[in-house]
Amino acid sequence: MTGSPSADPAPVKNVVFIGGSFVAISAVMKMRTAPLPPGYRIVVVEPHNHAHYMFGFPRAAVISGFERELFVPYDNLFATPETGVVVHAKAISITRTEVKLDRAVEGFGDSITFDYMVYCTGARHPSPGNLNDSHTKAEGIAVLKSYQMRIANAKKIVIAGAGAVGLELAAEIKEHYPEKTVTIVHSRDRYMMGYKMGIHSKSYGILKELGVHQILGDRLIIPDSGVEDGVLCTLRTKLGKEIECDLLIPCTGMTPNSDVLATLSPAVINPANNLVRIKQTLQIDDDAYPNIFAGGDVVDSADIKTGLSAFWHADTIVQVNKPFMKPSMWLVFDLTRIGLSRTSSR
Ligand SMILES: Cc1cc2nc3c(=O)[nH]c(=O)nc-3n(C[C@H](O)[C@H](O)[C@H](O)COP(=O)(O)OP(=O)(O)OC[C@H]3O[C@@H](n4cnc5c(N)ncnc54)[C@H](O)[C@@H]3O)c2cc1C
Repeated sequence: MTGSPSADPAPVKNVVFIGGSFVAISAVMKMRTAPLPPGYRIVVVEPHNHAHYMFGFPRAAVISGFERELFVPYDNLFATPETGVVVHAKAISITRTEVKLDRAVEGFGDSITFDYMVYCTGARHPSPGNLNDSHTKAEGIAVLKSYQMRIANAKKIVIAGAGAVGLELAAEIKEHYPEKTVTIVHSRDRYMMGYKMGIHSKSYGILKELGVHQILGDRLIIPDSGVEDGVLCTLRTKLGKEIECDLLIPCTGMTPNSDVLATLSPAVINPANNLVRIKQTLQIDDDAYPNIFAGGDVVDSADIKTGLSAFWHADTIVQVNKPFMKPSMWLVFDLTRIGLSRTSSR
């Protein structure tokens, strides 16, 4: 745990954030200038010992030298333990007023009571886009360094899936190792479907210039035995293309971390995409729990899943909570102005 809770926690009311990444950090930073009323403190529940700055992971998986900068300590997030604490644990279930943890932590035991809760657990992506299971800085750096070595040793690299992570990784590899063969296979006819066509054209053009082989509108058939690093094999696509490969890197999309919230309100999870349904206020879409909010990559909103959207969600959650403890005064924000229906980047 970073910092320690008050010696007598009885009168303190907790505002718990489950997940200590973009939503939680930006909400905490906003609350430095718009603090919670006296008697409240923030508790961030997060299994990682350091915040992950994943924007740099695709590059750090290819070249060495700045891995350490991508893991940011939580030490200075709160000025005092009375304002807030970071608890290093994983939430495993939720009730209306309590979150259960996967371990006992100093000052709390294995559960934390709350008056308000923000569910912001993001999503899993295949590594190296996310390092979900690297809980320490050393583990995260070790994973990035292992990618650096695997990529350095490979000659014919195939990337399955071309979301932002696949595209960035292909470009990084080819930019730093122009002699290697890099092939990207994408099931859609264009990249970055949620964005304007211009983003596709630009991405396609950059990869073409770098010499990346681009196969669109087709799927890779991945053998059950997988691909052994350094052993040359021939992979096939559904449409019959053959690609030589001695390193396969899957970059196949995100899986929302909504399962823990489902322990409280299964109905709030959209079965079509496993995202959390929310109201305009970013309260979860279940009238039984007006004290529970959700934001960031885990929510079912029309905006694109980016750090920027997470910042806007945090902004909304903080603003909605300004008239704190008076639910009747919760403001209904016109989120068409501030995030949920942003279309400008599309
Ligand atoms: C490689 C990559 C590059 C990107 N580049 C950009 C970019 O350039 N610009 C941009 O705007 N966006 C970018 N994004 C998107 C951006 O990172 C996400 O939109 C943003 O991280 C979402 O923030 P979040 O707080 O919702 O969730 P996340 O950042 O996914 O964090 C969720 C947190 O919740 C924790 N958690 C999960 N389950 C539990 C649990 N049960 N209990 C407790 N904690 C839990 C996780 O450990 C994690 O720390 C990129 C994403 C990736 C993967």
